[in-house]
Amino acid sequence: MRIDNDSKLDFDDVLIRPKRSEAPSRSAVDLDRHFTFLNSRATWSGIPIIASNMDTVGTIAMADALGPQIMTSLHKYYSEPELVDFFGQADRRTFTFLTLGIKDDDLDRLRQVTQKTTIQYVCVDAANGYTKSFVDWVKRIRDAFESVTIMAGNVATPEMVQELLISGAADIVKIGIGPGSVCMTRVMTGVGYPQLSAIIECADAAHGLKGHVCADGGCRTPGDVVKAFAAGADFVMLGGLLAGHDECEGQWVEEDGQRTGMQFYGMSSKTAMERYAGGARDYRACEGKEIVVPYKGSVKETIREITGGIRSACAYVGASQLRDLSRCTTFVLCNRTHNTVFEA
Ligand code: 5GP
Repeated sequence: MRIDNDSKLDFDDVLIRPKRSEAPSRSAVDLDRHFTFLNSRATWSGIPIIASNMDTVGTIAMADALGPQIMTSLHKYYSEPELVDFFGQADRRTFTFLTLGIKDDDLDRLRQVTQKTTIQYVCVDAANGYTKSFVDWVKRIRDAFESVTIMAGNVATPEMVQELLISGAADIVKIGIGPGSVCMTRVMTGVGYPQLSAIIECADAAHGLKGHVCADGGCRTPGDVVKAFAAGADFVMLGGLLAGHDECEGQWVEEDGQRTGMQFYGMSSKTAMERYAGGARDYRACEGKEIVVPYKGSVKETIREITGGIRSACAYVGASQLRDLSRCTTFVLCNRTHNTVFEA
């Protein structure tokens, strides 16, 4: 056993220090990023937010509402005909990930869909991206689909980011072990990594190789999304912040015929396991929980708030484009045990 004595930080442990600058007006801040991916060599432009592939949030209605500027990772429970129909229409494949798990059936389904239509983005999703078999699995997908852009995860430490980019030939690595709003991994297993530090360390490792990272989980406010970008995330994936909208699929809570809330649960929760895997397994703890989130109306309004927060943050630190936010950021440590500043 050993102890890592370095302090590691979560979103709540920091704030971003405002800076005197030729601050651009908020409306002039450019939120679009332009990426060329490491292994697929494909290019992408847009606002780098991704709706999570959770079954309540990663829906076709969400993809249609957020695209083409913002991406959605569709949940993996859509049938092959539904996917063929969806990706067969106009540009929808340019802003949507097809999600795969780690079963042969998932790869068969991808093969079948790609025989009938073009898929540009796949998200290879496992609760634990640390196994050799996961890296081999990502490489198998790369070998079968050379020009597809692959996002794979989740991991939270730099050596595994490098492994997935190099040995797995992924393009984007998804970062987050335990920070999610309906995640119980930290409680049930004691395993995890504070998300702000995970992003800082993993982004540094990925950028050194010209790869990209997607910060996944733990953003409860627009300010957290800003902090994730400021820490170096290329993309930020959102679950809970996008739950409870008209574009979600799920069980609504109603009072007097009016929607007041929505059931939102982790994909490893008992609810999800009962729905998709015939119940919880004896050998596995449920690493997700179920909560009710308030009904929030159209997702477009929430996206306006999030993008408004990012624009304003950029203006506070003198970044005229989102691309410059990390470079312009000084985080202030504000937890009770620290009172210092450091450059991201
Ligand atoms: P949020 O934005 O809600 O904080 O986090 C969303 C992320 O939480 C998802 O994209 C996914 O990576 C993660 N997640 C979803 N369901 C579960 C679960 O049941 N257990 C764990 N450990 N993580 C989950």
